[in-house]
Amino acid sequence: MAHLNPQIEKLLALQACEQKVRHLEQLLQAIPIDVKRLQDTIEAEEKTLADAKARLRKMEVSRKDLDNRVGVAQEQILRYKNQQLQVKKNEEYQALIHEIEGLEKEILDWEEEEIGLMLEIDSETENYKKQEASLASSTELIKRKIAVLENRRADLKNRLADAALRLQSADRDIDPAYLRAYRPMAARMKLPVVVGLKMQKCLGCHLRVSNEIMEKARKGVALTTCHNCGRLVYFAS
Ligand SMILES: [Zn+2]
Repeated sequence: MAHLNPQIEKLLALQACEQKVRHLEQLLQAIPIDVKRLQDTIEAEEKTLADAKARLRKMEVSRKDLDNRVGVAQEQILRYKNQQLQVKKNEEYQALIHEIEGLEKEILDWEEEEIGLMLEIDSETENYKKQEASLASSTELIKRKIAVLENRRADLKNRLADAALRLQSADRDIDPAYLRAYRPMAARMKLPVVVGLKMQKCLGCHLRVSNEIMEKARKGVALTTCHNCGRLVYFAS
């Protein structure tokens, strides 16, 4: 007949409290990381959008510049045409025709360039608007996700406070010798450090324990540890 050592029973309750506290702490630590990741997503999208806007502005400046050049050239042509009315010599007249033709050719080139640029601006503007709309909806979604995480954080904090409070009194009535064995191990190892022996195997390290240890655990009267890993053991089956 196997007995569960009452001290082990209390230790298991203490360990369960401690596991709960650690688990809640881990969940809490993950939240700011998740929030930051979501915020980074928004920032990256905002940057893409700002870059697109800057590109558009630059194209618009180039377009205006071409427009100005055409305007200046057209005024120059008018001036040449006025001069044509005043010159007497044929060669002077011919020279002005040459200048005018040169400018007209340049105007055609600039206008062509401007039309190309305008088409590009149109399609870029369309893309920009799509990106802007998509950013607005994803920002909305991400803000909702962040709000959910913030609620979760508040909830976890409350639960952690409760669990930590329970943990404070969970070592009441435990034999100090058992606590002295449990505490250092719990501090440096992943829980559980109080584990069952099943089919003569330690459920902590999964290695076989001696018949002696098995027998000691089965009696359940003395502090028993696994000779492989040092965990506190009790008879499970
Ligand atoms: Zn072990």
